[in-house]
Amino acid sequence: MSDTKCIAKTKQGSDCQAPAVTGTQFCAFHGDPERAAELGRIGGRRNRHYIDAEPINITPPATPEDVKNLLAQAMADVLAKKMDPRVASTITSMSGSLLKAFETMDLEQRMARIEEKQRAKENKPRPAH
Ligand SMILES: [Zn+2]
Repeated sequence: MSDTKCIAKTKQGSDCQAPAVTGTQFCAFHGDPERAAELGRIGGRRNRHYIDAEPINITPPATPEDVKNLLAQAMADVLAKKMDPRVASTITSMSGSLLKAFETMDLEQRMARIEEKQRAKENKPRPAH
């Protein structure tokens, strides 16, 4: 077993910390470019992201306005090819459901307020037990 470290650099530019294969100056990965290329291809397939620039932090939309902003941003991102159109269409269909949920919630809250007022108007004291 060799205690020599591989002299190659990683893609990130730091020194490869893998042990070198005995008799060579490289680790198994860097000593075999074809294998490295194949692993890179596999990695590339696995980590296929549309967004390769800065990561986008998305706050879950909490209001219809948030949904509107998110959709507008998604539109801009698709046009700028920063977002996969399939992701955008998923966002669009989820937004529809989310807006419905907001609408239902809003109606329920209004209904509760109306019922509250109605009770106050009728001014019926609650039966004491
Ligand atoms: Zn290496």
